[in-house]
Amino acid sequence: MKFSFKLLLCTMIVMAMALGFSGFYFVNYVFETSLEREVGQALDESSILSFAFETAALNVPAKYSILPDSTVEEIASNLERGGRSTSRLLRISGEEKNVLYASDGFETDNGLLKQTDESTKSYRVIEIGDKYYIHTSVAVNTLDRILYLETMRDVSEVFEEREMGFSLYRKVTIVMLIIGTLIMHFIASLLTKPIRILTRATKRMAAGDYSYRAEQVSKDELGQLTTDFNNMANALEENIEKLEEEIEAREDFVAAFAHELKTPLTAIIGYADMLRSHKLDEEKSFMSANYIYTEGKRLEAMSFRLLDIIVTKRNEAELQNVPVESVFHYLQEMFATDEEMKFTFQYEQDIVRAEANLIKTVLVNLIDNACKASEAGSVVEVNGHVQEDGYRFEVKDYGVGIPPEEQRKITKAFYMVDKSRARSKNGAGLGLALCAEILSLHHSELEIESEPGKGTCISFVLQK
Ligand code: ADP
Repeated sequence: MKFSFKLLLCTMIVMAMALGFSGFYFVNYVFETSLEREVGQALDESSILSFAFETAALNVPAKYSILPDSTVEEIASNLERGGRSTSRLLRISGEEKNVLYASDGFETDNGLLKQTDESTKSYRVIEIGDKYYIHTSVAVNTLDRILYLETMRDVSEVFEEREMGFSLYRKVTIVMLIIGTLIMHFIASLLTKPIRILTRATKRMAAGDYSYRAEQVSKDELGQLTTDFNNMANALEENIEKLEEEIEAREDFVAAFAHELKTPLTAIIGYADMLRSHKLDEEKSFMSANYIYTEGKRLEAMSFRLLDIIVTKRNEAELQNVPVESVFHYLQEMFATDEEMKFTFQYEQDIVRAEANLIKTVLVNLIDNACKASEAGSVVEVNGHVQEDGYRFEVKDYGVGIPPEEQRKITKAFYMVDKSRARSKNGAGLGLALCAEILSLHHSELEIESEPGKGTCISFVLQK
């Protein structure tokens, strides 16, 4: 069953119960009040009649010591008419509760009469045919006689009014329920709109449309749920994008790896085949063997690099306090023997949080790349300076530079801007990929600034 329908049904049940109970209570209250008023009037009338009867009895000639039955009848008949066009219903009974006078239509048992004695005044509500009466009974003291006066007051109207009230209320309740259902249907569909929107969004997402977002139509808990859902969808989309990128990167990696293997292997196989199938002179066989050796070396270097990347990816860096000075000393010593390039090392003293060997590897790679990109005799600057959010290392060269569209790609494994140039310098496009992995362990990344033909500055920041 739909949630909006459940909401509608529950509201209707509550509304029907509320209207039903309040209607019943209200109509009944009016009825009780009217009946009470009628009872009061009936009792008052009964008292007045008994007083009138006693007064009339006092006027009976003194020759009677006991009020004769004929006089009782006479007084009763006068009281019955009471000067009005419509006659009252009354009944007079003697001491033995024997009927002495009864109006036409006074047709009821003498149950109430039996309960009445000289000092009590009683009443009851009775139903005769389709009419309702208030039946009163009271004792009347006259000339040494105790008589009983009973009256019947027609209160059918009060009961009819109650029936009319109930019937009117039933109609009002039905009309209210119909109007209420229409209004509630509208409200329920308005209230459940965010749920419908969310359902549509989940279906779209399940069908693979990860960019679909639920429209926020309210600011209540359901609105909050929509926001949370959209946030979840954002996170999910980001993760899926990352996963897709990772899969793509892996496929690229495998393709590039296969390609990088193919070139040296083709050469190795070709030269090895030549050596085994032809009798070559000494110079040619040395050249062939040398080719096999250098390509084999390149393959070996490549496999070591790959291994480094894989190991780095799987491990955590053990960050320690490393004095910057020790890093620069290491680099200065390492490149001191390189006479082809001019190195400058400038740094501010400080301590960084790093795994020393890994950071040295990064800097050696960057300096190596700077050398490879530069003409012999050019300057490579290695600088270190303190900045607000950490310590910046930078390697600057005045070499070939990197075109802007390539700058984003050079940290990918096996990516080389100029393949033949890179290969001729023993590159395989793995150095920067390794640097990026190492820096990600240090929560840092490579920042590349470069202008083709002018030079490149690659830097990164470490926490202090
Ligand atoms: P390689 O082993 O080829 O040096 P890297 O991953 O270290 O591999 O570098 C990837 C590519 O980025 C290089 O082949 C080169 O084309 C380019 N590159 C890296 N550093 C520089 C630089 N300082 N100047 C110009 N090009 C560079």
